Amino acid sequence: MDTYVYRIGNNLYVNLTNRCSNRCTFCVRNGKETFEGYALWLREGEPTAEQVMAALGECDCEEVVFCGFGEPTYRLDAMLEVCAYVHAHGKKTRLNTNGHGSLIHGRDIAPELAGKLDGINISLNASNAKLYGELCRPLFPDTAFGGMLSFARSCREHGLNCWFSVVDCIGEAEVAACRAVAQQVGIPLRVREMIE
Ligand code: SF4
Repeated sequence: MDTYVYRIGNNLYVNLTNRCSNRCTFCVRNGKETFEGYALWLREGEPTAEQVMAALGECDCEEVVFCGFGEPTYRLDAMLEVCAYVHAHGKKTRLNTNGHGSLIHGRDIAPELAGKLDGINISLNASNAKLYGELCRPLFPDTAFGGMLSFARSCREHGLNCWFSVVDCIGEAEVAACRAVAQQVGIPLRVREMIE
């Protein structure tokens, strides 16, 4: 059976889709069947919100994180339904996203996330569109980087708790350049270790 929910540490992670608008050179799913011992490729199709809620049960965790082997905002409606369920159980919600949700849906989705997500981690990955294109190989090559920055700005404007993330392997100079981009957008930058 497909894995809809998996546990890492004190958090439960939700795996809503295989679809992604990037094909990052560093993606944890490249050439892999599993992550942290969980088989995350969805073979039987994408889960319904009801199937995810059944898998979450009583939300025995600190936080429920929308992450998995694809870009969760492809499943915006299901994600928002699950958010309401998680909040009803008194737990926090977080989205790990490539920031393309508004490009994917053709409208600004940030207003729809307000009050539903307690944290949004937006992968910045690079300090400019050229580097981003080389690293992330987006399906929307002309708009991916700018669209991601616009999404971040709109999240900030709608009062969402959001931040950019980059991996430390990009080097100090590029981290500094990413910090400058984050400052321009007006949200924090978190630097995390590369996951092998
Ligand atoms: S955006 Fe995330 S899931 Fe998509 S290819 Fe990049 S690292 Fe993988």
